[in-house]
Amino acid sequence: MIGRGGRGWPPALLPCAVMTPERYAKILRVLHRRQPTLTVLMDQVNKPHNLSAIIRTCDAVGVLEAHAVPPDDGRPLEFEGHAFEATSGSAHKWVRVQRHADAVGAVRGLQARGFQVLATHLSQRSVDYRDADYTRPTCVLLGAEKWGVNDAAAEAADANIVIPMYGMVQSLNVSVAAATILFEAQRQRLAAGMYAAPQLSPDELRNRAFEWAYPDLSAACRERNEPYPLLDDTGQLPA
Ligand code: SAM
Repeated sequence: MIGRGGRGWPPALLPCAVMTPERYAKILRVLHRRQPTLTVLMDQVNKPHNLSAIIRTCDAVGVLEAHAVPPDDGRPLEFEGHAFEATSGSAHKWVRVQRHADAVGAVRGLQARGFQVLATHLSQRSVDYRDADYTRPTCVLLGAEKWGVNDAAAEAADANIVIPMYGMVQSLNVSVAAATILFEAQRQRLAAGMYAAPQLSPDELRNRAFEWAYPDLSAACRERNEPYPLLDDTGQLPA
């Protein structure tokens, strides 16, 4: 049994192991609405504030896990000043970001997992973003600020979507485009009742709840290859 010190946890972790029932109830409420079948793939989006804004929007609409191909300018991906690899301290604490080596490989991998990939890309086959069915498992592919989505990835995608533009400029900021599309996905999913019942399995819910409630202890469990302890209904560790 893991107690507060009963299983040899490093004392430095224990002050973090405090969870109020209210906070735990919020964690459960949010996890009950997470949408594991909705995600984004950020292809070389290189400005930290854009990455952070996209991840915040992902959290707001219930994306469980996002995907990113880091820019090939040699700089690490950053979110709000935290290196990509960092695991806490900002919005990406609530939305894991999985890293991929290249966009086409990532598109193929997501398709193999049953996702339709919608590339935000102007082409002969582009359709209005509102015509897509976001109740299907969906990944929205977003491009770099300068170059957009690369042609090979756009071709590999299941469809190309655009937000109609009637102004003098040709494109939106990438985080604005992401929010526009993800909130359309949220609208469709709400109408389909997809936020009304948990989309995560009971095991996934339990594991994610433990990771969110006790990030340091969960990291220690993974390091030791030990199962997470069962929390009580209010999120407290076993005595
Ligand atoms: N010069 C780039 C191009 O030709 O694609 C502009 C890239 S735009 C600033 C950055 C990203 O924002 C795009 O790759 C796309 O993901 C998204 N985006 C911007 N405007 C969009 C729109 N009207 N429809 C769909 N996506 C858009």
